[in-house]
Amino acid sequence: MAYDPSLDNAPELLARAAAGAARRPDLTQGGGGNVSVKAGAERMLIKATGSRLRDLAPRSGWTLVNYANIRRRVASGPGGEDEFSDYICAQALTVKGVAPARPSIETGFHALLNTVVVHTHSVYANVLNMSAEGHALGRELFPGYEFVAYRAPGPQLCTAIAGRAARSEPQVFFLANHGLVTTHAGVEGALALSLKVNETIRRGLSLPPYPAAWAGEGLSPYNAAALARRGRGFMLNNVLSPDQALYCGPRTLDGGCGPDENEVLTALFYILDCIDLLRLTPKFLTPAEAEHLSSMKSGRYGRG
Ligand SMILES: [Zn+2]
Repeated sequence: MAYDPSLDNAPELLARAAAGAARRPDLTQGGGGNVSVKAGAERMLIKATGSRLRDLAPRSGWTLVNYANIRRRVASGPGGEDEFSDYICAQALTVKGVAPARPSIETGFHALLNTVVVHTHSVYANVLNMSAEGHALGRELFPGYEFVAYRAPGPQLCTAIAGRAARSEPQVFFLANHGLVTTHAGVEGALALSLKVNETIRRGLSLPPYPAAWAGEGLSPYNAAALARRGRGFMLNNVLSPDQALYCGPRTLDGGCGPDENEVLTALFYILDCIDLLRLTPKFLTPAEAEHLSSMKSGRYGRG
């Protein structure tokens, strides 16, 4: 029988988590980031791929999957990228009154964690995630939190998280060259953990204010100035994150972009500036890792 969202409070909880995580462009940019809520032993509501957190509502922008099956699949070795992605899509369940949508590529790791999962591409966490010294610094600031080396989104990242995942404890994961994950039994707890991490880094490292959002077409004045300073070649040849590989190719840098691309670019420039300010060393993806992301982009990998 199809899941009826009007009989459950999980869609409202999911929308609350999404609103909390999506409120600011320093936490999520473009279609990046995702949230999920588990309802019982099998059902998990998770942001749909290609949609934005800020657009998620109790009746749209999410999809329902059987997470118990996904957990079993991960435990038995998730297999190759396309195969794993097909498996996850096949776990989507019918929801009454909600259009079917593809689950996020990050559904795999959400399935392994506590009831509520909030995943953002926080620029503050990413100053630590995208610098060579950042995770050592992070371990001093946050003893007991999890620091995960870079893995491509999909089965590789899922496997890296699987070994450290706790189903019923609050957890915080720093994902190298990617983002922040907080988990908790409840929405407010997961959002509070995320806020605590961001504020501790922002204040502890005296990071500068985040640039104001810009909603026009073409490169924003902030991004145009930063691009002129860093150089087009530098930005094309030095990839910090999957978001950069997806959103910030030649077309974007040449001004063929809208608000989503501008948000991702502003985050990248802010992170690079903070890394310089703190005299840390940016840690770019290897050419093979960047190339792998480009190949995923043309395959089944959707944004977010
Ligand atoms: Zn992500």
